Amino acid sequence: MKPAKFEYLRPSMIKDALQYLEDYGEDAKIISGGQSLVPVLNMRLSTPKYLIDVSRIKELNYIKLDGSVIAIGALTRHYEVEESELISKYCPLLIEGIKNVGHPQIRSRGTIGGSIAHADPSAELPCMLSALRGEIVIIGPDGERTVPTDEFFLTYLLTSLEPTELVKEIRFPIINENFGSAFIEMTRRHGDFALVEVAAVVGLDESGNISSVQLAVGGAGPTPIVLEDIEDFLIGKEPTEHIITEAVGSIEDYLDPEGDLHSSAEYRVHLASILTKRALQTAINRVPKGMMA
Ligand SMILES: Cc1cc2nc3c(=O)[nH]c(=O)nc-3n(C[C@H](O)[C@H](O)[C@H](O)COP(=O)(O)OP(=O)(O)OC[C@H]3O[C@@H](n4cnc5c(N)ncnc54)[C@H](O)[C@@H]3O)c2cc1C
Repeated sequence: MKPAKFEYLRPSMIKDALQYLEDYGEDAKIISGGQSLVPVLNMRLSTPKYLIDVSRIKELNYIKLDGSVIAIGALTRHYEVEESELISKYCPLLIEGIKNVGHPQIRSRGTIGGSIAHADPSAELPCMLSALRGEIVIIGPDGERTVPTDEFFLTYLLTSLEPTELVKEIRFPIINENFGSAFIEMTRRHGDFALVEVAAVVGLDESGNISSVQLAVGGAGPTPIVLEDIEDFLIGKEPTEHIITEAVGSIEDYLDPEGDLHSSAEYRVHLASILTKRALQTAINRVPKGMMA
């Protein structure tokens, strides 16, 4: 199928995009890389009267270090993150995870802001952003607001963005150089969306016990899920296989998966348990030797 008829608008500045959003509100849809929206338009699941193509807004394409945060402009494409030396140095988790987003063709067009705004609970970026306790900067007619992930992702493909607002920047806290991190997912075929995915960041103290842990799972509920109780349980503990198994033993209590044609809900819980153990163990193994925090 082809999309329903729409009027195409292509602003080159944020203020013009915001003006269009204000003028056309719910009749308009933002398009950036088009990797998620074009299929939706082609299937006529969405039939906006106005399509606002923000992909030429240069002021929204950047990767920069801002104190202890890597700030990424919404229009930065996946491949630019993948190739960034700054991100490789300060947030290697992001590089590991983003390589799982579709295929190179998709990563060369798809944007970071588009992935976050699309809010697919199986997408890699929302999961990593949640694990890292990152934030989303939103711009609208009343200026900017910065929100944490649990206020942004509401449910499947739904966020707290207003129709007159734009995702401006995604803020990923950098990872302590003495910590280890890991991103692991399971897909049916290479390049598919994950059935389940896990992002983990771990720090160890001088005795080798866990001093810090950040853990999130995607694909096992309507939004990415931060496993706070498991994190709390692990703090101060020796990172043995037994402790990790005990910590992850309660994981089902925090998940809310649905079954679909790709996998049953039970299998997603099973995967979440296995992948969380693997991600934790991998992150622990990656803590630089002799560099415990
Ligand atoms: C074959 C295939 C495989 C894929 N596999 C994966 C995968 O494994 N993992 C994964 O995460 N994704 C995957 N995707 C989806 C895709 O890569 C991302 O969702 C995509 O990068 C979103 O970015 P985009 O710029 O293309 O967004 P678009 O498609 O342009 O927009 C997506 C949504 O976000 C909104 N939007 C976009 N930018 C903004 C903004 N700045 N402010 C507010 N709203 C905005 C749009 O209105 C739309 O609702 C796949 C896509 C395809 C076609």
